[in-house]
Amino acid sequence: MKPLLSIQGINKTYSNNYRALRDIHLDVMPGEFLTLLGPSGCGKTTLLTTIAGFLHPDSGRIVYDATDITYLPAHRRQLNTVFQSYALFPHMSIVKNVMYGPQRTGVPAAEAKQRALEALELVGLEGFAERMPSELSGGQRQRVALARAIVNKPKLLLLDEPLSALDLKLRKRMQMELKALQEKLAISFIFVTHDQEEALAMSDRIVVMNQGSIEQIGTGDEVYSQPATRFVGEFIGDVNIFPVHHHDAQCWLTATHQPVPQANAQTQLLLVRPEDVSISLDSKDGVAAQVNEIVNLGSHSMFFLRAGELEVTVRSMGANTLHLQSGQTVFIQINVSKACPLEG
Ligand code: ATP
Repeated sequence: MKPLLSIQGINKTYSNNYRALRDIHLDVMPGEFLTLLGPSGCGKTTLLTTIAGFLHPDSGRIVYDATDITYLPAHRRQLNTVFQSYALFPHMSIVKNVMYGPQRTGVPAAEAKQRALEALELVGLEGFAERMPSELSGGQRQRVALARAIVNKPKLLLLDEPLSALDLKLRKRMQMELKALQEKLAISFIFVTHDQEEALAMSDRIVVMNQGSIEQIGTGDEVYSQPATRFVGEFIGDVNIFPVHHHDAQCWLTATHQPVPQANAQTQLLLVRPEDVSISLDSKDGVAAQVNEIVNLGSHSMFFLRAGELEVTVRSMGANTLHLQSGQTVFIQINVSKACPLEG
C-alpha cells in the first residue's frame, strides 16, 4: 500500500535560529490513526502546521496523495485541521457553522446544508442543527468543530490537541468517539498530544518526538515494550532504569545478578516496567529492599522502594494485599525476560 502522506527530510528553523524540526521522515498510511506524541516544545505543532501548509519547511518534501505539496498554499491542500480552541462563529447556528466551508468553495446552499446535516449526524449531533454555539456544552462544541472539519470529506484530518480543553471524563469518552469516527470514515488522522495515555488509547502508530527529532515510530505496544531510547522509555509510562555489567561474555543485571540473555555487548542499561517487578515477604525470593512509600490508586497500587543505591518502582493490581507498611523490608524479583536492554 502506498502512503497517503510522505514527509521526506523536513527541516524547520524559526527566525530566532531555533531549529524546531530536524530531518523528519514519516509516512502516513490511508485510514491510519497516527499520533505525534512528545513533551511541550518538541515540535509537534510545528510539524502539523507544516503539513497543513501554514509554515514552509527550509528543506525536504511533503508528498500528499501522490502530489508534491511542499509549497502549495494551505487553502489548496485537500486536508483539514481541528484546533484545540474550536473557534465557532458565535452568531451562526450550528448547521450554518458547518455549511460555511462547503459554501465558500462554491457548493450550492441546499447541498451544503445536506452535507452539514450528514456531518452533524456522524458526530452524534443530529437534532442540534438550529442551536447556537452558546447553547452547547464544551464537548458538543468540539464535535461541531469536528463536523466542520469532515464535511468536505478530506482524506486526512490534522488534529492539534483537540481534547485538551475538556475535563477528564469527557475527554476519555471523546477519545473513544473520535477513534470510532475515524474508523467509520476510513480517513487518516494525524493527532497531536503530549498525553501518553491518550496516544496509547487511540493510535494505530505513535511517533515519539523529542527536541525536533523523531525518537521512535511504532505501535503503542512497541513504544511501551520495546522503547528505542531511554527518552521513549521514560516518556511512555513509569519505568525503572537499572544498571548492568558485562562479565564472562554475558550481560548481568547488577542489582540481582541475573543474566540478561536479550542484551548485547553494547547494553548499558535495562529498562523494567513497574509491573515486571514483584514483591515477596520471603527472603528466598530475591533482593532485599525497603518500602519508602505506598500509593493506592484503586485499580492498582504503586510501591516505591529502595534496594541499596537503587530506587525501584513496583506496580501491582488491586490494593496493598500484603499489607505492607512504609519502612518495612521486603524482597523483590525482577522479570528480566520482559526487560528492554538499552545502549545508553
Ligand atoms: P506544545 O505541546 O507546548 O504545543 P509543541 O511540541 O507543539 O509544544 P511547537 O509549538 O512545535 O512545540 O514548538 C517547537 C519549538 O519551537 C518550541 O521550542 C517553541 O518555543 C519554538 N517555536 C514555536 N513557534 C515559534 C516561532 N514562531 N518563533 C520561534 N520559535 C518558535
